[in-house]
Amino acid sequence: MSDKDYQFNTRAVRAGQVRTAEGEHSEPIFTTSSYVFDSAAQAAARFSGDEAGNIYSRFTNPTVRTFEQRLAALEGGERCVATSSGMAAILSTCLGLLKAGDHIVASQSIFGTTVVMFSQHLAKFGVETTFVSLTDLDAWKNAIQDNTVFLFLETPSNPLGEVADIPKLADVAHERDCLLVVDNCLCTPALQRPLDLGADIVIHSATKFLDGQGRCMGGAIVGKEEIVGKDIYGVVRTCGPSMSPFNAWTFLKGLETLSVRMKAHCENAQQLAEWLDAQPAVTQVYFPGLKTHPQYDIAQSQQSGPGAVLSFELKGGKDAAWTLIDATELLSITANLGDTKTTITHPATTTHGRLTPEQRQEAGISDGLIRIAVGLEDIVDLKADLQRGLDVLS
Ligand SMILES: *Cc1c(COP(=O)(O)O)cnc(C)c1O
Repeated sequence: MSDKDYQFNTRAVRAGQVRTAEGEHSEPIFTTSSYVFDSAAQAAARFSGDEAGNIYSRFTNPTVRTFEQRLAALEGGERCVATSSGMAAILSTCLGLLKAGDHIVASQSIFGTTVVMFSQHLAKFGVETTFVSLTDLDAWKNAIQDNTVFLFLETPSNPLGEVADIPKLADVAHERDCLLVVDNCLCTPALQRPLDLGADIVIHSATKFLDGQGRCMGGAIVGKEEIVGKDIYGVVRTCGPSMSPFNAWTFLKGLETLSVRMKAHCENAQQLAEWLDAQPAVTQVYFPGLKTHPQYDIAQSQQSGPGAVLSFELKGGKDAAWTLIDATELLSITANLGDTKTTITHPATTTHGRLTPEQRQEAGISDGLIRIAVGLEDIVDLKADLQRGLDVLS
């Protein structure tokens, strides 16, 4: 049977493994920078491309390949290319697909560093980006130009959990011969498979839930061989943002438990969101698992779980937010997400601190907003930790 024939959880544990003559049960880490050839003729054939096989670990590495094949099998894509970070995955996609004079349409609710990459670094090379509201289909349509190459989004968005309609946006993109690129970092393939919903490329920061335990940096690009396997792979192999074998191995172990972890993350997040929603000091909770969420139905139709990132607004603005954050003893005050350890952040003064007050208001980041990336601790302790802060406030 090929990996494709197995169910998701089986692929997560088994796909891509090639056992060596040693008969090892767990995947080995191939820490080698280069590979030896049987003869000068074989070396020549490998370099010319006449013979497939390893040459140098910037190009291919068996541990990295196992990770790539396993993630491709989970996302339902033909090809995956692993990178040294999530940003390297986005950059390699851009360098592979774009040239000076091209145009991107991107959601304005994407990872802040991606906004900086598009609007500052790519702009220097003559690539322009138009930012639109994630949920406004007409805005996406109207922003597409003749030189637009792809549409780029994250769903659900971070920190406000807005949900994009992936099938509809795929149609919008394809009508104008554009590609749809989805950063699937917050859901992972355990909850959402954008390629099945019509997207052309899936991006990952493996640093987040794929690792799931806050250990390694990495990224990945998944899609059709013809899209990902040519120019995008060419950029990674030539320009060098390749994944290290050790990190690939760590992510492989992460993928083996992805489904059970995501299920537990979602359950904790759902309980916490409902509990926060009932607190008098909390004016609003942003979480796609709440029935009052404006895109609840879309989330239900394209995600098998709500994810584990939630935000809420406190009466009392920044002072109240900082008071609550500082009253916690268990939660980690850090901006990372996708870890077993629950993290708490004040977006207005950290992740979104470089925006002007007007830009923050437009992005919906109020001074009283707190983001929580829910981990796997016991829900009783998570609630008690936040209760400490709510008690101080009341
Ligand atoms: C963290 C993150 C990235 C960047 O990934 P790195 O591994 O930190 O480079 C990209 N997109 C999203 C949605 C992220 O959360």
